[in-house]
Amino acid sequence: MGSDLPKGEYVPEGHTIHRLAQENTRRFAGRTVALSSPQGRFADGAALLDGTELVGAEAHGKHLFLEFPGERWIHVHLGLAGVFRFGEIADPADGPGPVVGVVRLRIAGDDSWADLRGPNTCEIVTRTEKDALHARLGPDPLRPDADPDQAWERIARSAKPIAELLMDQKVLAGVGNVYRAEALFRAGLDPHREGRLVKRATWDAIWADLVDLMAEGVRVNRIDTVRPEHTPEAMGRPPRQDDHGGEVYVYRRTGMPCLVCDTEVRIEELAGRNLFWCPKCQPKARKRRAAAAPAAGGAATASGTPARSRRTSTAAAAAHTPAPAPRVRRGAVR
Ligand SMILES: [Zn+2]
Repeated sequence: MGSDLPKGEYVPEGHTIHRLAQENTRRFAGRTVALSSPQGRFADGAALLDGTELVGAEAHGKHLFLEFPGERWIHVHLGLAGVFRFGEIADPADGPGPVVGVVRLRIAGDDSWADLRGPNTCEIVTRTEKDALHARLGPDPLRPDADPDQAWERIARSAKPIAELLMDQKVLAGVGNVYRAEALFRAGLDPHREGRLVKRATWDAIWADLVDLMAEGVRVNRIDTVRPEHTPEAMGRPPRQDDHGGEVYVYRRTGMPCLVCDTEVRIEELAGRNLFWCPKCQPKARKRRAAAAPAAGGAATASGTPARSRRTSTAAAAAHTPAPAPRVRRGAVR
C-alpha cells in the first residue's frame, strides 16, 4: 500500500508518522531486514545495519525512529517531500523488485518492503542522540508517556499567539496546521490570544480534544474534526472536496460559511503559515465578554457552542471568564 501522504505544500501531521511507525512495526518488527540506499546518500548507514533485526518503530511528533539492536535507531523526518511506500514480496527469491525513483532507504524483509524517498532527515542515532531529540520536542498527544503540563509551562509564560505555540514542536509535538486550526475552533478560542492569557482549563480541554482527534486520525488515516451535528449527512450538504483531509470546520475553508454560524472563514499568515479561523465562533476577548452578556442572547449560544469539547464541557465553559489584568486585555484585543 502507499503511505497515502497528500501531495503538495503539506507537512504531514503527527498521526501520519504514528501510522508509519505502526506500519513499519507490523511489517518488519522482530525480523531480519536487508537495508540499502539505492540513491547512495544513506549508503553507509544502511550498510551498518544491513542484515540485522528491526526491533520496532515509534514516533514522537513528526519524527520516526526505527530501532535496531545495540541501541541504534534510524531517525527519519519526512519534511515537506518525504514519503514512505510499502509493498509485498510474493516470492523471496524475487526480492522487492526494481527501484523506482530516488530511494534514500530501502527496507526489505522476507515478504514485505518499504522505500523511503525525499526525507528531510534519514540518519543513524545513538541512545544519547535520540534522548536529545526527545528532549527538544514537546509532548505528543499520541504518545502514552506525554505530559501535557510540559506544554502548559511553555504556553503559560509566552506572549506569542496560541496558534503559533500549538505549531511549535518544542511546545507540542505532532500538531500541524490542520489540527491547530481545528482544535482552536472547537475550543472557541481566538487564535491570536497570547499563550499567557489562555486559561488552564481551556488548555486542558484542547489537550484532551487533540488526544481524541489525533487518535481518530491514526485510526482512519485522515483528519475529521466536525461533530456529529456538522457532518455532511447531518447538515444535508455535499462532502468536502480537498486533498488535505476530511471534514473540518475552518482549515482551507477560506471565504466559505462557517458550519456553525455562517460567518465567512478567515485566513491570514501567521509565522509563515496560513491560519484559518472563524471570527464569530473564536472571538477576541472583549467580544467574548459581550457575547456572554444576556443582551447578546442567541449569539452567545452560537459562539459558545464550539467551546464545549465533549469530554470537558465544564472546563471549557469556565474558560469564558475574561482575563483580569488590564495590560493583558490590551494585547488580546489588538
Ligand atoms: Zn463560526
